[in-house]
Amino acid sequence: MTFPVTITSARPVDPWDDPVVTLLGDAVHTMSPGRGDGAGIALRDAHLLGDLLTSDLTVAEAKTAYEHQMLDYGFAAVEASRNRPFGFFGKSARPGSPDGRARRRPDDRRSVVVTLTDEGRMLLPKIPPVFGQTAALLTAGISPDELQTTHRALLRMRENLASGRR
Ligand SMILES: Cc1cc2nc3c(=O)[nH]c(=O)nc-3n(C[C@H](O)[C@H](O)[C@H](O)COP(=O)(O)OP(=O)(O)OC[C@H]3O[C@@H](n4cnc5c(N)ncnc54)[C@H](O)[C@@H]3O)c2cc1C
Repeated sequence: MTFPVTITSARPVDPWDDPVVTLLGDAVHTMSPGRGDGAGIALRDAHLLGDLLTSDLTVAEAKTAYEHQMLDYGFAAVEASRNRPFGFFGKSARPGSPDGRARRRPDDRRSVVVTLTDEGRMLLPKIPPVFGQTAALLTAGISPDELQTTHRALLRMRENLASGRR
């Protein structure tokens, strides 16, 4: 079984003076989730920025020092994630590897075609029951009417959020 996954990662940028804002996490160095790196690096950004802002540096100096370090390790991680977007799942999942478990689509550089291994295929039928059990656990004691009302309320909240952002 194969299925395409489109992964978009950030392009490297240089430190910037204008505008006088800074960025952290996915807002600046989005990368493949398959390596399990993105959240850790976002936290590293926050930690570094916090340390610099509470140091003796001025805010502008702290911003510059932060961006130099963050862009360096952040885009090293982006590059690693482009080379091995599914590194989390083992060495053989590298795009272009002979067993072809994950390889780039020639017609779309942002996409990776994932082929399940025999082990993955064996695990596949086990997934829907887990989702079913989780849903049953979450909704225990809630009537279908109550669920429908909750669903409608959540949809309305999403619409409200979307219209508020326009
Ligand atoms: C399927 C998947 C699996 C992943 N697995 C892992 C993993 O195992 N390990 C790992 O380290 N990383 C993983 N990641 C990556 C990780 O989730 C991100 O790198 C991390 O969440 C980035 O944190 P962030 O704070 O920069 O951005 P986000 O977590 O995206 O936070 C941004 C927040 O801003 C809010 N927002 C957006 N626009 C506005 C607006 N206009 N106004 C107000 N709020 C707004 C969003 O709702 C969101 O809550 C995974 C990602 C995905 C998609």
